[in-house]
Amino acid sequence: MNFCPSCGAKLARRIPEGDHLPRFVCDGCQTIHYENPKLIAGCVPESGGRILLCRRAIEPRRGYWTVPAGFMENGETLQQAAARECHEEALARVGIEDPCAIVHVLHAHQVHVLFRATLADGSFGVGVESLEVALYDERDIPWPEIAFPSIEFTLRRYFEDRARGRRELHFTTFERPPRGG
Ligand SMILES: [Zn+2]
Repeated sequence: MNFCPSCGAKLARRIPEGDHLPRFVCDGCQTIHYENPKLIAGCVPESGGRILLCRRAIEPRRGYWTVPAGFMENGETLQQAAARECHEEALARVGIEDPCAIVHVLHAHQVHVLFRATLADGSFGVGVESLEVALYDERDIPWPEIAFPSIEFTLRRYFEDRARGRRELHFTTFERPPRGG
């Protein structure tokens, strides 16, 4: 951030009085522009025992597989965001259920919240942000081609829980990007 979104003046980076972290501070209008983590909402859509995966048409990780997920918008709930992303990326309607994983991605300044979900009518397609969309049996999941550690974590916990007939909420933290990622 170089210029103030409020007044256009050049911003300084310093610790404001009474604060403990450096912030972007505007000496024109005195606004302090805080930077906070962004929320990513997504789901693991299941249909007939198989999981819907999307192959990404956009960076980062173009060509790699993920479950539908994306940035939450103002004015929507986590569940609405997860359902919307699924419709955008996989042209699929889902019933969002309970949360499966909350992943702190510290290096990306993001928190990922992934829900269990069921495909409403089994239909899906290829959204504009996807190269390909497909239903996968657990044994066929392309693990080396899963786009993000948070998604791999979520899928592994999902299948473990499913095998044991339970539904837990799992937490983890990634502090730095994966090698090559
Ligand atoms: Zn300003």
